[in-house]
Amino acid sequence: MGSVTEKSQIRAATPAFELVFFSMRITDCHVHIQPVEMFKPAALETMRRKRKNFDQVIAFCRSPKLFLEHLDAIGIERAVLINYVAPELMGFTREVNEFVAEYCKADVKRLIPCGSVHPRHTADAHGDMDHIARLGIKMLKVHPPHQLLYPNDYVNGNTNLEVIYREAERHGIPVMVHTGTSIFPGARNKYGDPIYVDDVAVDFPKLKILLAHGGRPLWMNTAFFLIRRHRNVYLDISGIPPKTLLNYFPRLEEIAAQTLFGTDWPGPGVPEIKQNLDDFRALPLSDEVKRQILEKTALTIWPD
Ligand SMILES: [Zn+2]
Repeated sequence: MGSVTEKSQIRAATPAFELVFFSMRITDCHVHIQPVEMFKPAALETMRRKRKNFDQVIAFCRSPKLFLEHLDAIGIERAVLINYVAPELMGFTREVNEFVAEYCKADVKRLIPCGSVHPRHTADAHGDMDHIARLGIKMLKVHPPHQLLYPNDYVNGNTNLEVIYREAERHGIPVMVHTGTSIFPGARNKYGDPIYVDDVAVDFPKLKILLAHGGRPLWMNTAFFLIRRHRNVYLDISGIPPKTLLNYFPRLEEIAAQTLFGTDWPGPGVPEIKQNLDDFRALPLSDEVKRQILEKTALTIWPD
């Protein structure tokens, strides 16, 4: 969190019922701070079209100091910065790993780097995974609709993917799998069905797997089943408007210990982080469940 002065300034401007949350150590497990220069024009345009304050997004992507000040202002302690290799759709090459590792050096306690090795493009999965570990990357992203493969494609002969999962498991690096649809130009949504993660959870039982977006909007039941079936599978609620979260996951309290707060900001259609946080806090859930989702689950995955 920020300085004591900043905190008391925030307190002064905040209604009393919100104060309980200032003692919380909130992690947003899904923020896209990415190298803007790498974006393909069509992908960048998809984001720009949906955001009023796109200049601020660009500024945060270039300056960890500005982004940390923003997190202070909205009461978020830590953010996991999602990056992944997706040259065909997004323009992201393997250099995203260096980018995010370097960016997070500004505050290694508060900024948590997420990178990736692309199973169809790597020439040396072992070497690339060693590199990931050396860079201090704390999560790997697999984005099936943007990387154009099924999350269990190692059963169909993609041995790189098997190496990636095995090495992630060995190093204790969790893997986030995008589940659900994507509207970016060229995304192939058949790959967004979470059911293929069932194989991964069975074959790599010590690997922590986060289901980003819980299969929204087509496959929420599948996601809920996987989280209940596998102790090593987690729900990242990012990309789901908090106001509709309990419609999609009416039994959310049952899986709270495996659920993390995330926003997917500044993805298309995602409001400001603070708005998402306020909407989540307003849900008819117990304080204990809210604390679990905002704070505790993330602290078990990325302890101090
Ligand atoms: Zn995302």
